[in-house]
Amino acid sequence: MTRTVYVNGEYLPETEAKVSIFDRAFLMGDGVYEVTSVLDGKLIDFDGHAARLARSLKELDMQAPCTTEELLEIHRKLVEINGIEEGMVYLQVTRGAAADRDFVFPDPEEVKPTLVLFTQNKPGLADSPAAKKGIKVISIEDVRWGRRDIKTVQLLYPSMGKMMAKKAGVDDAWMVEDGFVTEGTSNNAYFIKGNKIVTRALSNDILHGITRAAVLRFAAEAQMEVEERNFTIAEAQAADEAFITSASTFVMPVVEIDGAALGDGAPGPRALRLREIYLEESRKAAI
Ligand code: PMP
Repeated sequence: MTRTVYVNGEYLPETEAKVSIFDRAFLMGDGVYEVTSVLDGKLIDFDGHAARLARSLKELDMQAPCTTEELLEIHRKLVEINGIEEGMVYLQVTRGAAADRDFVFPDPEEVKPTLVLFTQNKPGLADSPAAKKGIKVISIEDVRWGRRDIKTVQLLYPSMGKMMAKKAGVDDAWMVEDGFVTEGTSNNAYFIKGNKIVTRALSNDILHGITRAAVLRFAAEAQMEVEERNFTIAEAQAADEAFITSASTFVMPVVEIDGAALGDGAPGPRALRLREIYLEESRKAAI
């Protein structure tokens, strides 16, 4: 089935959707994005993603293409038209297509932002086999720019990180800066020791994960404490459990870090419990 996608006010078959070669996201990586999960045909954490989008736009002096209410309507319409029960909605806003290639930002009165949304159908997203097995990660150096809190489309290094992981025969990579883990290539990173969940504190060094915020809120329900601080790979390797979070993986257990198995090498009970709570609460709050 041909997907219906959204481009600048129009719902079109994916084969007919077009963006200018002068679009600044194409030429300069000058764009931001969000990924919102869909479960039971409903949007998970939409308000969080919309709020983070607004923040990314503001930090880059970029215009909002429309209101949050309009964005919600577009999300819902695409989910409905494309019959998505489980999957994702990808949204991208760019600084638009100026008349020519120029480093200087175009006048926002003259050049309107580009807004693109499309769905990705992922049946079985919540009941993922990976969550039952857990994932293995390697550590790599974090060489990204200094504003990782802004969700830009500049994903070349995370993409290279995934390739390094693939080459090493594992699933993903955790990035390390000045000896401390920042985050995963496309997710936030955590370990569990005893009753405590440890994850890096929010700053410009990491993306402020929407799933992270929810999981830390639900930690109390799992009778767990949260400590937000820097940690090393060695500390995570010596932990009881580890996991990652993102909108598309929810809570995903990590069973191996740089070749060292955690516990007995199977997903830990607390990470699995957090996943269960997250899915349950998110389904309840989905819109
Ligand atoms: N960190 C990075 C670098 C990411 O790319 C992502 C997901 N896009 C996350 C963390 C997780 O964020 P969220 O829970 O909002 O998907």
